[in-house]
Amino acid sequence: MTPPLYHFGAGPAMLPAEVLAEIRTELPDFRGSGISILEYGHRSPEFRALMRETEADFRELLEIPADYHVLFMPGGATLQFAMSALNLGGRGAYLVTGQWSAKALHEAERVAQAQAVWDGSQSGYTRLPADTEWQLPPDTGYLHYTVNETIAGVEFHLTPASRGAPLAADMTSMILSRPVATAQHALIYASAQKNLGIAGITAVIVNPAALQTPPRATPSLLDYRVWLEAESLPNTPPVFAWYVLGKMLKWTKAQGGVGALAARNQRKAAMLYAVLDASDFYVNKVHPASRSLMNVPFLLHDRNLEAVFLREAVAAGLQNLAGHRSRGGIRASIYNAMPEAGVARLAEFMRAFERRYG
Ligand code: PMP
Repeated sequence: MTPPLYHFGAGPAMLPAEVLAEIRTELPDFRGSGISILEYGHRSPEFRALMRETEADFRELLEIPADYHVLFMPGGATLQFAMSALNLGGRGAYLVTGQWSAKALHEAERVAQAQAVWDGSQSGYTRLPADTEWQLPPDTGYLHYTVNETIAGVEFHLTPASRGAPLAADMTSMILSRPVATAQHALIYASAQKNLGIAGITAVIVNPAALQTPPRATPSLLDYRVWLEAESLPNTPPVFAWYVLGKMLKWTKAQGGVGALAARNQRKAAMLYAVLDASDFYVNKVHPASRSLMNVPFLLHDRNLEAVFLREAVAAGLQNLAGHRSRGGIRASIYNAMPEAGVARLAEFMRAFERRYG
């Protein structure tokens, strides 16, 4: 019997085997209609029912306050970088802790006023700031941070002190991996292709009280109020991605919810950091307090061995471990769908590789 294959890609990421199996079975016939979900109309009562269930599950899993709105839209987190800036108004203050928050700031600067209030690029994005290390200028409209930096492998484990400013968070690569203080945020957004399914749909949680009127030239699809009024259907939505999102939320609940997944995710990450900490053969420069639970980037001390490592990993059923194209090295993305057995196999592979080549 061939051993199962584990896929450590950062996104699109591994889906749970159960979810893939259900999709395979259901694909030709959505809920007994005889029509595939790939061709299903978004205005149909059946799709409306799926939308309602999806929102209810999402609200339950993240304990979203009743007066907050939940929107699902295309465009990825990258579109939210600009859209959030247009709709929150005032000068955005950004904690630049990695490549994604740097991009968020860059996009915000194109359409609005924004500035970095802390910038970790000088130290190679290896740690997160304490609240005492940055200040908010008096004209701050909102504070933006990226909870988990998917490339740098740094993660905020506590919500930064926003000092009264509306707080906006990119939760793309950690949403549903552990409980978060949803109600402390004015705006949360996350692309789906990690813990919420497949690319094409983006979840947005917004406190309507925090929204300002965007500039007049803003296209209507970049105005959150248009999405609120149209209940996330101002135009044709990504129906299939929405369906997969619904499946992922049911799966997340069946795992015991966010608390149970958080405990599992802690155990998974601890397995890999234990290998890294016990070794000079592997190098991870991230400050221990800032380590990500979802993305574990590392280098081999002898960088010439990285290609060999990746090749042998594939032979051992461990796929997509190459680091981000901007950085090289190795990166293990261990989102909710990655079973503990997959991480255990990687940890064992790393120890054996070190014994052979160290
Ligand atoms: N933010 C973070 C933290 C990410 O990891 C990513 C994608 N990996 C993005 C934003 C961009 O997402 P998208 O490609 O869906 O626009």
